[in-house]
Amino acid sequence: MANAPVILIIEDDAQIRRFLRATLAAEQFRYHEALTAAEGIAQAQARQPDLVLLDLGLPDRDGLEVIHALRGERQVPILVLSARGQEKDKIAALDAGADDFISKPFGVGELLARIRAALRRAAMLRDGTGGATFRVGHITVDLEARVVRAGNGEVHLTPIEFRLLETLVRHAGKVVTQRQLLAEVWGPQHSEQSQYLRVYMTQLRRKLEADPARPRHLRTEPGVGYRLVTE
Ligand code: CA
Repeated sequence: MANAPVILIIEDDAQIRRFLRATLAAEQFRYHEALTAAEGIAQAQARQPDLVLLDLGLPDRDGLEVIHALRGERQVPILVLSARGQEKDKIAALDAGADDFISKPFGVGELLARIRAALRRAAMLRDGTGGATFRVGHITVDLEARVVRAGNGEVHLTPIEFRLLETLVRHAGKVVTQRQLLAEVWGPQHSEQSQYLRVYMTQLRRKLEADPARPRHLRTEPGVGYRLVTE
């Protein structure tokens, strides 16, 4: 398909590349492959992909360097493929500007959901179609009027609670690291105070989630941060 999204795969593992090729081809995505960081950066410039799938463990250079190189250019969404349990790597990748990560081994459904979410976010940013009002499930957030509703009722949030929700809304669907959230809500000097986040996230869930103990939308990404799940 001529206008199908173009995806650049930067991954040295042949087996994972084979899986990615099969998955992307079945969904009629177009794709290109690079086996090293240097080749990935060159291909990103030549192909102008709509999304990059990036392995962090590349033979020539660290995947983080690829993120830095691509971030210097334009806002192509970067989805990091990371080994399970490598929380430090995931956090470094997200802080460097990756959009999201997916832990290996991953399934077709999870991969495609993450790709679609990233492409949607990119399209919204590009077209400015996000608007001031954001809806997720039974929650409505009017960012301009600063009014939040859950179901039919208006919910009163404190200024900090609102800023926290607003930050998650602006990154809807993608994981936001604890450091990012703390810096955006409380300021960079508080970037280590993760207990603030736990306290305020609990309050937000109590006010917004139907079942705060099993949140549907305000989700914890263990060891990494939080994600506003939009589906
Ligand atoms: Ca690798």
